[in-house]
Amino acid sequence: MQTLIWDFSGQTAIVTGGTRGIGRAISEALLAAGARVFATYAGNEQAAAEFAKANAPAATRFELFRFDVADYAAVETFYCEIDSRTDSVEILVNNAGIRRDAVVGMLRPENWQAVIRTNLDGVFHMAKFAVHRMMQARYGRIVTITSPSGKIGFEGQANYAASKAGEVAFTRSLAREVARRGITANCVSPGFIDTDFIRDLTPDQAKGYRGMVPMRRFGRADEVAACVLFLASREAAYVNGATLEVTGGL
Ligand code: NDP
Repeated sequence: MQTLIWDFSGQTAIVTGGTRGIGRAISEALLAAGARVFATYAGNEQAAAEFAKANAPAATRFELFRFDVADYAAVETFYCEIDSRTDSVEILVNNAGIRRDAVVGMLRPENWQAVIRTNLDGVFHMAKFAVHRMMQARYGRIVTITSPSGKIGFEGQANYAASKAGEVAFTRSLAREVARRGITANCVSPGFIDTDFIRDLTPDQAKGYRGMVPMRRFGRADEVAACVLFLASREAAYVNGATLEVTGGL
């Protein structure tokens, strides 16, 4: 991780899926820049424990919460819990996401629903409760991790593409709703990033996808995190409703 130029001292950030992959890099970049971080995860205790161990020097500034972002009641409970720990939430990073790929003719309804519920319902649930708090403070930064799949529409990803396009549309509406309260809502769209998320690619598939990227390499999670921090910063005050592509030119 390179030295970061942002100062988030005194700010509180929520990062969903914040203990692994891209989310972990975002949590760690925010911690390095002085923020207090509530990192959430769905169930991978090993990754959460590794995160806690690796970030032990900053232990007073982070807490980990396990819940399903698709579960509205669980999200509400989470926000009630953090209300006892902090007066404000300046930053929400909607990063938690899943894929359940299959061509439409073979796509099982439960895999359609799981992806839409986690990726799209989850963003709504998390944003709804964050917005209440940010409106009162008249300040906030909401950054949602979408995907080029939502724009390009990769084969076998109709559920994922629909959820990711939905995140962008959701963000555009939200950006208009909150703009006059000092709150911005933007998306970051990472290309192929080397995390567990794409570990199931066969060597041939990975080679093919790498060949689609003008830079001829997959991105790193910290390269995505750097862009998230920009959009989460006070300095990005006039960027609203935008999608920042971090794709190596895909
Ligand atoms: P990972 O699979 O490495 O990590 C996903 C994270 O999301 C984990 O922390 C996981 O928790 C959490 N999560 C998953 N489902 C839920 C849920 N229902 N409730 C709460 N948390 C959940 O993925 P990446 O880091 O690669 O991806 C992060 C985001 O970036 C996703 O939104 C993805 O769509 C997007 N993205 C990724 C790309 C890539 O190439 N990697 C490309 C474009 C976009 P746990 O650890 O407990 O399982």
